[in-house]
Amino acid sequence: MLYSNVFPKTIKGGKKYNSINAQYLINGGFIDQVMTGVYTFLPLGWRVLNKIEDITRQEMDKIGEEMLMPGLSTKKFWEDTGRLETINVLFKASGANKASRAMNEAEYILNCTQEDVITPLAKRFFTSYKDFPFALYHIQVKYRNEPRAKSGILRGREFRMKDLYSFHKSEENLMDFYENKAKPAYIKTFKRLGLGDSTVIALASGGDFTKNYSHEFQTICDAGEDTLYHDTEMDIYYNKEVVKDSKSGRYEIVKAAEVGNIFPLNTKFSDAIDYKYTDEKGDRHPVYMGSYGIGTTRVMGVLVEKHHDKNGIIWPAQVAPYLIHLIGLDLQDEKIKERVERLYHQLTDAGIEVLYDDREEARAGEKFATADLIGNPIRLVISKRTEDKVEWKKRNEKESEIISIDEAIKRISNF
Ligand code: ATP
Ligand code: MG
Repeated sequence: MLYSNVFPKTIKGGKKYNSINAQYLINGGFIDQVMTGVYTFLPLGWRVLNKIEDITRQEMDKIGEEMLMPGLSTKKFWEDTGRLETINVLFKASGANKASRAMNEAEYILNCTQEDVITPLAKRFFTSYKDFPFALYHIQVKYRNEPRAKSGILRGREFRMKDLYSFHKSEENLMDFYENKAKPAYIKTFKRLGLGDSTVIALASGGDFTKNYSHEFQTICDAGEDTLYHDTEMDIYYNKEVVKDSKSGRYEIVKAAEVGNIFPLNTKFSDAIDYKYTDEKGDRHPVYMGSYGIGTTRVMGVLVEKHHDKNGIIWPAQVAPYLIHLIGLDLQDEKIKERVERLYHQLTDAGIEVLYDDREEARAGEKFATADLIGNPIRLVISKRTEDKVEWKKRNEKESEIISIDEAIKRISNF
């Protein structure tokens, strides 16, 4: 990709934001704030989010089937589960429209999660013991009227989530899936996303969903809004909300951002709408459910909070917008320009993702600052000084070195 074509460019010396992810993602041209808690994912940001969601998808495909449910539903679903008036962040959309009498007021709900929509769907199709167990998921936008939408994309009023739902004939089967399929898939996903070292599993309440408990995947991070109590003797993490004796000296207190949450719902939603399955003898039994979320846009924000320095973002390679940030300097010199373009084509022809800063008017300092802010893992520079070689520098290292083009290509293919 030619940087001269990228929409938009980095912002220099713009507005100050109160969080690092907002500051770097907005200045880097990854996202744009439409209003509080609502963002456009610009081309660079969309590339990153797609990579995060692709990794998530690959791991979820091992435990469930992907589909896509709508963002909009009717009140009826939420009335049936009893949640229409109990979820405080639920967005209710009025269909009132002077231009059309056909639509009623407050008839619609902007889904904040999907238990209420998927349970009736499952009930319509899978009711025989032969159909169980099964799991479905989608990756989709969610709406929550968050009272405190701050911290950039860590807390949006519109955000993206992967949500998976599992359906079982018994509590044992649900818990087997929960512990031996969902949990390991989550651990693997966060590891692949570059958050493995800093993400812990914390015991938490079931929130809106269940009376008992849930497990949160919490990334230890100063920008996080959650407080965890780490029982250092047992090495167990608890969300603050479930700790009864918080004064005990055995706890170490840490800040964390909740990147995922899994819930054994048991029969809460199936009971609400009488979703039962029929066994071999024709007897009906309650369906056991689990629900499993990952906030993919929040993950993107957390990655920035965890991987940056004073100059910008340092993306883990697997989620970086591009692997290579290629800078051409002294491009007025036709010979140099030709060298950079040759390398650019050589790399892109080999299927390597390259962002080539081909701007002739931008000065060297500006190009380096842009590369640091955007945070691609490898920076290559070709200039008068490099002659027929190339300057190699990793975003997370200080030193650069001049190496041959062949050596650079060898290193890239082994990266
Ligand atoms: P929080 O406690 O942070 O408000 P939650 O517990 O209400 O989140 P869940 O219903 O468990 O959220 O949603 C599953 C996942 O979706 C969360 O673990 C988080 O990663 C993500 N998520 C939830 N709310 C938001 C939000 N407002 N903006 C971005 N991501 C969110
Ligand atoms: Mg949660």
